[in-house]
Amino acid sequence: MMKTDLKSLTREELTAEITALGEKPFRAGQLYQWMHQKLARDYDEMTNLPKALRETLREQYGYTSHTLVDRRISKLDGTEKYLFGLADGNVIESVLMRYQFGNSVCISSQAGCRMGCRFCASTIGGLTRNLLPSEMLDQVYAIQKLTGERVSHVVVMGTGEPLDNYDNLLRFLKLLTDENGLHISQRNITVSTCGLTEQIRKLADEKLQITLALSLHAPSQKKRMELMPVAYKYDISEVLDACRYYFEQTGRRMTFEYSLVDGVNASVEDARELARLLGGMNCHINLIPVNPVSERNYTQPGRSGVLAFKNVLENCGKTVTIRREMGRDIAGACGQLRKGYLDKHKQAGPDAVC
Ligand code: SAH
Repeated sequence: MMKTDLKSLTREELTAEITALGEKPFRAGQLYQWMHQKLARDYDEMTNLPKALRETLREQYGYTSHTLVDRRISKLDGTEKYLFGLADGNVIESVLMRYQFGNSVCISSQAGCRMGCRFCASTIGGLTRNLLPSEMLDQVYAIQKLTGERVSHVVVMGTGEPLDNYDNLLRFLKLLTDENGLHISQRNITVSTCGLTEQIRKLADEKLQITLALSLHAPSQKKRMELMPVAYKYDISEVLDACRYYFEQTGRRMTFEYSLVDGVNASVEDARELARLLGGMNCHINLIPVNPVSERNYTQPGRSGVLAFKNVLENCGKTVTIRREMGRDIAGACGQLRKGYLDKHKQAGPDAVC
């Protein structure tokens, strides 16, 4: 049986667990602080806990902590890409972006992904497994520790579909925003989904103040099906209804992500259709010129095409941004660093990943 993972427990659950061992409740407070504020990598660092308790914890509980496999720092904009190793030999990718408003970390929510979006490198090998809440937290914790700089924003836009790992995602959000942890403001967190409608509605009912980003990528059901297999399961109108519900329940304006793929969804007519589709919705559209992935032959429209697309939307009264490409010199598109690593180690033989 898998041991209980201490870092994924809420403060209340941790207190129940620790007092059941015959310890005083304040020990749970100390332990929680070591894990979620001092970001301890091991029980050995928890010097104000009695040695005997540390030994019991080591024997009876799992404690996650990532190993650093690779770290690349962009010479262009200071963006850093990290490859972390998990206890079972899996590797995951995270990114640190430095902005004027603070440091933002992009985390993975799964090892691999089963959603199959045509332009995305993260999905090529399929889903390996869900990440634990602690394994999502550890990406933020490790980066804050390694850089010595406070992380103020988190985006769940790395490998994986966060709403396909719903319960662990929710626990992660609770722990990340907890006042006894890093206490990151809900408003500084964005979760990006390919559009699992039941889970969008469920998340709306939680009434959190996080931003929800929907990967729309097409102005019609037909074109969406060409790019995103998930569209076969949920019609675009159903997905947009769920997004309206999210706004009604939380008051948070939706973000729509739209990857521009030349010759597929990036024409001026596509832009007009998109503007009609989103009609009177209070939303923000984020255009992402597609990052070429070597396995697919998708290319970006030229700069003038991107600007023309943006113009049409703006003329229809939409708020539009073009996503700045960060860290272009350190392993292209989302999931490319991890994929490169896996490919290399597959060739070297299965043992190499461990
Ligand atoms: N599963 C989540 C998170 C995925 S990654 C989701 O679907 O939203 C975050 C964003 O990057 C998504 O909008 C995704 O569609 C987009 N993306 C993935 N690969 C891309 C690529 N090669 N070029 C441009 N955008 C890409």
